Amino acid sequence: HNTGVARGTMAGVSLAASEEHEMTKIERIGAHSHIRGLGLTDDLTPKASAQGMVGQIKARRAAGVVQNMIKEGKLAGQAVLIAGQPGTGKTAIALGLAQSLGSDTPFTAISASEIYSLGMSKTEVLTQAFRRSIGVRIKEETEIIEGEVVEVQIDRPATGTGAKVGKLTLKTTEMETIYDLGNKLIESLTKEKVQAGDVITIDKATGKITKLGRSFTRARDYDATGPQTRFVQCPEGELQKRKEVVHTVTLHEIDVINNRTQGFLALFSGDTGEIKGEVRQQINAKVAEWREEGKAELVPGVLFVDEVHMLDIECFSFLNRALEDDMAPVVIVATNRGITRIRGTQNMSPHGIPIDMLDRMIIIKTVPYQEKEIKEILKIRCEEEDCEIQDEALVVLTKIGVETSLRYAIQLITLANLVAIKRKEKQITIPDVKKVYQLFIDEQRSQKFLKEYEDEFMF
Ligand code: ATP
Repeated sequence: HNTGVARGTMAGVSLAASEEHEMTKIERIGAHSHIRGLGLTDDLTPKASAQGMVGQIKARRAAGVVQNMIKEGKLAGQAVLIAGQPGTGKTAIALGLAQSLGSDTPFTAISASEIYSLGMSKTEVLTQAFRRSIGVRIKEETEIIEGEVVEVQIDRPATGTGAKVGKLTLKTTEMETIYDLGNKLIESLTKEKVQAGDVITIDKATGKITKLGRSFTRARDYDATGPQTRFVQCPEGELQKRKEVVHTVTLHEIDVINNRTQGFLALFSGDTGEIKGEVRQQINAKVAEWREEGKAELVPGVLFVDEVHMLDIECFSFLNRALEDDMAPVVIVATNRGITRIRGTQNMSPHGIPIDMLDRMIIIKTVPYQEKEIKEILKIRCEEEDCEIQDEALVVLTKIGVETSLRYAIQLITLANLVAIKRKEKQITIPDVKKVYQLFIDEQRSQKFLKEYEDEFMF
């Protein structure tokens, strides 16, 4: 997992980060790796199935309107609430919206309950989530050397289970496209594990890549931003002297790096730890300076807070204030609750959200899926996970999805594929689906089981 952190320094503020292992983030994004946008036409009409998005037409149309408001800067100080049953695509829509705003738009997904579990103050967790969702696009002039890979663009991540490498485009910012060898090149790039900073030669006839080494000094300048990066190679026989390199880091990444270098005491406050107020102030000032000098621009991203009814009244006041900030990201919250108590008070309120906060919100509703939509989503997930599935088996899996939950059916794909592989089959067939359905129970069956054996479990 690439946290998309640029390495280097700029005007005394360090931009180098060490690897952070954010397991929960990987999992969450992984489940939505097929989502590449909202799947809308130019006039914002949702296509039945596009960019990985299926159905949920009204909600997607509404998200399209929100997307326009954001682009026109009309959403300032407001937030979006997506209300709907579990598994109806609330996270998927928030992510699709973020992607429709641009490929380097930061997207952060948290669950409100995480706020109470990280050994940090609630407002610190929220502040970090806010700053993770604000990108700083930094422009730098650098030198590149002949044969050096500046950026690699692979549509999908090249690592991880079942991930597939999609279309690869050779692009340069200032130079002409060199040549596009299509699939051969993609294969080679993946096989050789080519990364930004590698120095390579490409055999134009076969697309075979030979790695010559790594340009360590320069690699830090254009570390990939997530799985979507661009591949640019300096043309043979030509030494491109200076090139503008742009990378996007989040405010939080800059915070963490500069907080760590402040002193070893930071080590005692956990992985990231609380970040000192003065560090943030310094960084805000520096970023403002860069913006004035035209060296950087802000990329407001999307912060998604699931289970928003779990936030308490203090968190809501924090959100209210934070939304006023001119550096605020787009905040999208989600819940499946109706009228419920606002945490930390005795008051009831729609979705457990205080009225003054609700007042700032645009509400989008998601609805349960039809059978044919579930089937289409499952089909897309099979492709995404590189699993071939027999038509009849997909029908059975869809039935399971309808009767249990979409998420459960999605989870069965990888498992059924493992069973198929074990049986040396290329395709998932009905017996594979049956087997994993029996091995791994869904929530309803789990509850039933616990009820039946209540006496044994509760001693
Ligand atoms: P929860 O309230 O439990 O967090 P949710 O409403 O956020 O659920 P998601 O996590 O977005 O639901 O959806 C469950 C799975 O189904 C995810 O893998 C998601 O990417 C996929 N999915 C949901 N809706 C769609 C859709 N309209 N098109 C394609 N994939 C979808």
